[in-house]
Amino acid sequence: MSQPDVLVIGGGIAGISAAAEIAADARVTVLEGEAALGYHATGRSAAIFIRNYGNAVLRKLNAMAEPVYASAGYLADDPLLSPRGALSLAYDGEEQAFESFCTEADGVERLTPGQAGSMVPILDTDRIRGAALEPDARDIDVDRALQGYARLLRDRGGRIATGARVTAITRDGAGWHIETRAGTFRADAIVNAAGAWADTVAGLAGTEGLGLVPYRRSAALLPAPEGCDVTDWPLFGAVSESWYAKPEAGKLMVSPADEDPVEPHDAWPDDMVVAEGLWRFEQAVTEPVTRVERSWAGLRSFLPDRTPAAGWDPATPGFFWLCGQGGYGVQTAPALARIAADLFHGRDEAVEPGLRAALDPARFAVRQES
Ligand SMILES: Cc1cc2nc3c(=O)[nH]c(=O)nc-3n(C[C@H](O)[C@H](O)[C@H](O)COP(=O)(O)OP(=O)(O)OC[C@H]3O[C@@H](n4cnc5c(N)ncnc54)[C@H](O)[C@@H]3O)c2cc1C
Repeated sequence: MSQPDVLVIGGGIAGISAAAEIAADARVTVLEGEAALGYHATGRSAAIFIRNYGNAVLRKLNAMAEPVYASAGYLADDPLLSPRGALSLAYDGEEQAFESFCTEADGVERLTPGQAGSMVPILDTDRIRGAALEPDARDIDVDRALQGYARLLRDRGGRIATGARVTAITRDGAGWHIETRAGTFRADAIVNAAGAWADTVAGLAGTEGLGLVPYRRSAALLPAPEGCDVTDWPLFGAVSESWYAKPEAGKLMVSPADEDPVEPHDAWPDDMVVAEGLWRFEQAVTEPVTRVERSWAGLRSFLPDRTPAAGWDPATPGFFWLCGQGGYGVQTAPALARIAADLFHGRDEAVEPGLRAALDPARFAVRQES
């Protein structure tokens, strides 16, 4: 039997990883609107893998994804994860949130304020009401992960078209016809991995959206505090997620952990939001912020239940959803890519039924009817 022709819309980590896995049994082309892969959310992430981040479904996906990134050979010659650790800190009023976090999390160690301060010497330890370390949190080499999946896709005969923003989608007896700035493409099936634009792409195909909302998240890069080598510091931040900081190439990335709903667009940071986040960070440390070297923002796109969607659209044949990865899209990509490939090729029994139901895009259609 000849293999189906598949167009994956979106060349972020979701689209490229799913394309690579689907390409084991299909002829796949990725259509990316920008000139380069990973230009939007994927290229702007904090690049951390935290097993205890997200709801129960996401934690399952995190656990499934970890061995792919942690082992050598499949995507890259060396593992794509490297040691970092994540330090969660509680301040006045956050004690209850901290207790819930420690109860629900696997493999975290409670620390005294002094122990936390010995890991991150700029912390104002007098203000800390609780501290817990997740030693297993690791940095992800996002660029190598993206390139590794692109290589796997090409090795499996797949193609990538950049500068190919999809502008129109129609369907007839011969399948899908997709107009892009780089020409017209035909396919038996579409995978919608367009990140913040997933509902927009569905609209082009005449398919109802899932209620995806992009939320802006910003980050600022600061020089390392005077006299500090930050290389081995863990990621550290408030358990309430009101700010976090992470070493990045010898400097310190600080995020206000903002979550402002916006329309899908090429996101940029709001100076006031960054300034307020840096103020919250400054309340927790003993060193003032003297200079911001650069700042940026990206979109974390969530569905109403803050769980991704992976599966066929219930009303539009040949239209497959892969979106809503929120703040977890890089770390969950290997798991979602394999699940997407199994569901795409009808190997539904390979996906745990509970997970299949939790990710099913049809869950929103059911809600609307009830
Ligand atoms: C500041 C920040 C920090 C983050 N930190 C982490 C982290 O530490 N760990 C983690 O796991 N996740 C993190 N995330 C989340 C993560 O970045 C996202 O979940 C993930 O990148 C989503 O991948 P994606 O491929 O779905 O989206 P994207 O990378 O945005 O890719 C979607 C692609 O679709 C393309 N596209 C859209 N419309 C069209 C069209 N019509 N035609 C053709 N192409 C189209 C876009 O150009 C884009 O390249 C963070 C996000 C932000 C913003």
